[in-house]
Amino acid sequence: MTLRFYNSATRRKEVFEPRHPGRVSMYVCGPTVYDLAHIGNGRTFVSFDLVYRLLAHEYGRDNVVFVRNITDVEDKINQAAADRGISIRELTTETEAAFLEDMGVLGVSPPTYAPRVTDSIPAIIAMIEALIAHGHAYEAEAHVLFQVDSFAEYGALSGRSVEDMIAGARIDVAPFKRSPADFVLWKPSPPELPGWDSPWGRGRPGWHIECSAMIEAVLGPAFGDTIDIHAGGNDLIFPHHENELAQSACAHGGAALAKFWLHSGMLTVEGAKMSKSLGNFLTVQDVLSWGIPGEAIRYYMLKTHYHSPMDWTKAGLGLAWKELDRFYNLLRQVGPAAFEHAEPPEAFLAALADDLNTPGALAVLHDVAGQANSAEGAEKDRLAAQIRAAGAVLGILQSNVAAWFTGSITDGDAIEERINARNQARKDRDFATADRIRDELLAEGIVLEDGPTGTIWRRAS
Ligand code: AMP
Ligand code: ZN
Repeated sequence: MTLRFYNSATRRKEVFEPRHPGRVSMYVCGPTVYDLAHIGNGRTFVSFDLVYRLLAHEYGRDNVVFVRNITDVEDKINQAAADRGISIRELTTETEAAFLEDMGVLGVSPPTYAPRVTDSIPAIIAMIEALIAHGHAYEAEAHVLFQVDSFAEYGALSGRSVEDMIAGARIDVAPFKRSPADFVLWKPSPPELPGWDSPWGRGRPGWHIECSAMIEAVLGPAFGDTIDIHAGGNDLIFPHHENELAQSACAHGGAALAKFWLHSGMLTVEGAKMSKSLGNFLTVQDVLSWGIPGEAIRYYMLKTHYHSPMDWTKAGLGLAWKELDRFYNLLRQVGPAAFEHAEPPEAFLAALADDLNTPGALAVLHDVAGQANSAEGAEKDRLAAQIRAAGAVLGILQSNVAAWFTGSITDGDAIEERINARNQARKDRDFATADRIRDELLAEGIVLEDGPTGTIWRRAS
């Protein structure tokens, strides 16, 4: 299968081929662990999880090395720990654990490696030393700064000119900077803040150098200076990715940091940027607390192409959940034996291979589900099994079918009980009672369908 991805570096869709045949390296900027993951973070990590799954489907999971770091050194972390009156370590440990749990609920696969900044300080210091030695960084007042005009390609990824950046820089630029566009690689830490001894005194790294150093430390030995894919939300293109790119190229004699740069679109909520002051800020845990299964959240996110912005609405989420129910309804009419050795539909894989066209891929599945619903016997089994195999690539539709319907609605057992009572009434030829139960359930939004394998229920659409 030929995979194509939109590459932000070239602004074109390009055929993907790993630099080392059959082995893929991928890095996604991980979370800064100061607060619970919000649904925008969730969307970005779901998007790149799908890239990982698709690569794993194509090359074999063991041949894809996926790194997603944990940023556990950051001023926002120091502030949040102070606000809550807890230690920094307590905050980062708790937040990292919550992040991993939320990602698990969203079906995001664990990365191959998840380096923490606090464990990567020697690699960071070594890279800063290399940048100074090569004339790309300088020390000033216990800070080390990257000298932007030492790298001619600076600005190419984000499409900005250094002159514009300098013109746009705020007046209160630190006086020790040679140019307003220069950015921090290392800064001093007072005794009460996290800090490490370094050739420039006790201090801590800037944000951008962390990723460059962790990529070099974790992926460098096996893959060299250039990895295959670097990804993150499109709010990271500038300055974060521009700076990562500059640091790595300058520390490695000009070698490109990544062949492909992939960026996902931002998520808004009910038409507005998420913000605590607007009251539309939603964490993953907020949504789960409404009783929505993580799989429905994931499915909802997959309905929008990862590159486009996504506007999250309650109505859209409800609709997504119903669509997922419809697929599960089909799967529950089929014996699990039918699922063995099934492959996803070709057209589904072709859509995903085309820069992760998830709306197109899901349209194929809806089509196949329509055919399956009107098919019988072995043909129905075959089509349903294709859908389930496609679900494995998307990270959905793998739940136990009975658990899906009982677990996703609070009174699932009660519904089953009433279906049994109706069946008994029908056996007893008490059709008035049987019809009454059916009508009562319908009034509660539950539709019964009598089929060859018995009676099943679904939520009315
Ligand atoms: P952070 O923890 O803030 O560094 O963010 C982690 C990831 O979430 C980054 O890749 C961001 O680009 C991404 N992200 C942040 N806000 C949003 C949003 N509203 N929609 C989509 N992705 C986001
Ligand atoms: Zn990064």
